[in-house]
Amino acid sequence: MTPAPGDAAARGPTREGREDVLTAHDRAGIDAWARAMGTTVRQVDEDWESITYEAESTGPDGVRLRCRYRYRIPPVAAMRRLARTHVVGMVHEVDGARCHHVRRVIPMGTTDSELRHNAVLIASALIDLQRHGRCGAGVATLVPYMVVPALEWEVRPTDGDAPRTPKA
Ligand SMILES: [Zn+2]
Repeated sequence: MTPAPGDAAARGPTREGREDVLTAHDRAGIDAWARAMGTTVRQVDEDWESITYEAESTGPDGVRLRCRYRYRIPPVAAMRRLARTHVVGMVHEVDGARCHHVRRVIPMGTTDSELRHNAVLIASALIDLQRHGRCGAGVATLVPYMVVPALEWEVRPTDGDAPRTPKA
């Protein structure tokens, strides 16, 4: 379980084996690296202000090689994405216990209800993809208990308690 919303920690660092991580300065850089290594570039993370791409290969000595590039979304577009970002909390049952998952997602939509609906769809698909093998979380069993626009989440005063720190 991770202490804050978002997926970076959920994915976690690789603990097995050695690895080298390179950072590309632009998209052309990571594309060139991937071509040279005979591998492909894929999107591995996304938030309102950036998209992270990664390419992975294995060196001749067995060292895992990765190249990362974080694309910073231009400010105007980033602010539009921030306005759409929702924090979604979902719960499901595992052996009689409740298992909670929280994700930040950026749904498409024009009305509030459309955004909330799509936020739940994206979050449940994401949790299923990332966690099904670990706790059995699935689209069919996850129930939303919270859908909050990220901007409201940040400015909403706490109810006199400690700041809310949802669990992943
Ligand atoms: Zn779970």
